[in-house]
Amino acid sequence: MGIEEKLPAGMLLTTVEGLIGYMRKASVWPATFGLACCAFEMMTMGAPRYDAARFGMEVFRASPRQADLMIVAGRVSQKMAPVLRQIYDQMANPKYVLAMGVCASSGGMFNNYAIVQGVDHIVPVDMYLPGCPPRPEMLLDAILKIHEKIQHAKLGVNHRKELVEREQTALEA
Ligand code: SF4
Repeated sequence: MGIEEKLPAGMLLTTVEGLIGYMRKASVWPATFGLACCAFEMMTMGAPRYDAARFGMEVFRASPRQADLMIVAGRVSQKMAPVLRQIYDQMANPKYVLAMGVCASSGGMFNNYAIVQGVDHIVPVDMYLPGCPPRPEMLLDAILKIHEKIQHAKLGVNHRKELVEREQTALEA
């Protein structure tokens, strides 16, 4: 007889890892951090129409120490880059970075000396979201993809370290 037949109906089985992943993904708090026009769509995503509270994340934290998701909403100027890195360093671990829009992802149409050509030159990025600007629905979709990543993350594995190594290899190639 299989274990499923021995257990009373209605009993749910999971692993500690699965349970922790489920709880983590339902309490991701973004840092308040808007850089340019994309930030308006990010703020709209936080409004009642899109009801981000369904996913446990309606609160944008003013302190990076209370945040674990950085949404880079807009182009990053060279002057802003060290500030962005400092905010990232102050965020709680495990932390995630979403590059919102073409400017944050690759510099976009700002191919000039003043703009960082992709925020991955400053911090490791978990998710790139295309568009100029991406709609709030697209941002929610990208965040839900990060949730999936969090849900299936292995406990004790430093995903930041893996990301940094992968990006270093890509930069060296
Ligand atoms: Fe502005 Fe478009 Fe760049 Fe977003 S991607 S910061 S909307 S120019």
